[in-house]
Amino acid sequence: MFDFFKRNKEYVSCEWLEYGIHFNMAGLFHCCMYAHSDKNDLPVSRITYNMRYNFDDFLNKKNLSRKNFRKGIIEDRCKGCYVLKKKNWNKQFKIKNMAISTNTTCNSNCIYCYTHNNKQAFNSVPDIPIYDFIEKYIKKKVITADCEVQFGGGEPVLNYEFEKILNLLVDKGFKSIRVHSSGIKYSLAIEKALQNDVCNLVISPDSGTKELYYKIKCVDKYDVCWDNIKKYAAAQNLKKDMLHLKYIILPNVNDTVQDAKDFIDKAKESNVNHILIDLEMEWYKQNRKDKEKITKVFELVKYMESYARKNGLTYSHNPTICTAIDDGYHALYDSIIINV
Ligand code: SF4
Ligand code: SF4
Repeated sequence: MFDFFKRNKEYVSCEWLEYGIHFNMAGLFHCCMYAHSDKNDLPVSRITYNMRYNFDDFLNKKNLSRKNFRKGIIEDRCKGCYVLKKKNWNKQFKIKNMAISTNTTCNSNCIYCYTHNNKQAFNSVPDIPIYDFIEKYIKKKVITADCEVQFGGGEPVLNYEFEKILNLLVDKGFKSIRVHSSGIKYSLAIEKALQNDVCNLVISPDSGTKELYYKIKCVDKYDVCWDNIKKYAAAQNLKKDMLHLKYIILPNVNDTVQDAKDFIDKAKESNVNHILIDLEMEWYKQNRKDKEKITKVFELVKYMESYARKNGLTYSHNPTICTAIDDGYHALYDSIIINV
């Protein structure tokens, strides 16, 4: 089925096209980057009527796509994508990147989430099974321990296969696993992965007070979430910065210095060592040309960086902040100096 024996040669392609799989509710994709062209938002292989993936169909189509790229044919769904590059791609097929979004159920109800306005419907969609596929292809050595895996959703911890899949990956020695969780349901598989130093866990409380948490999450789970954060923080082993707490800046909702300070104080009190600073993407898309508003956001980012440093926490930026800085605002960003 796969074209193992042709000689390697340099050609234009990308990691995900060559070695990636995104398990999505609509079907199977090569990647999770839909934003690069207006033609790539359809699955490579659609979900079946009974909510199952057709893995053979996907793998056959991926094999065909790989052959096309090797011949120099850039398929429509990838035209214009900035990650395309020319290099010597391994001719032997392996899955090196997996993005898993096989449920839309969630125990939170964040105001910025795509599920927010139709929560009941999204919470009724059944999970799509993938455990057997992963186990089979690990046995066949098509998926090996160097594969990068990320779980999203929905809330992955609510997925009926989640504990089983994560335990399998940890037991098989996978070292690059990322889980995005609401933090509301505690997972023993995540705890074990943290103890083994192989899981980067991202939880996004976006707030450090009960009132603000409720305003953003619309569920009364502030104490449960922060208790779990504390337990996850304590489960970290040699690597003490595997738990990342995210603060998505939502202008006019959680954008005051006091809001940010409350969040960092709460993170520190919970023994968290790393924070991720982000900006709500839809707001950014609508306001990206408004220098005054962007300046206000950057001032808060700089405050958070400084206050985190002062408290011994490390920090990083999530994609929307990086995009904003790269979007012609480098000089503006660098010009803002805040030391608390
Ligand atoms: S080139 Fe871009 S759109 Fe195509 S598979 Fe790679 S990441 Fe996805
Ligand atoms: S935790 Fe994630 S999936 Fe759940 S409502 Fe919030 S953004 Fe949506």
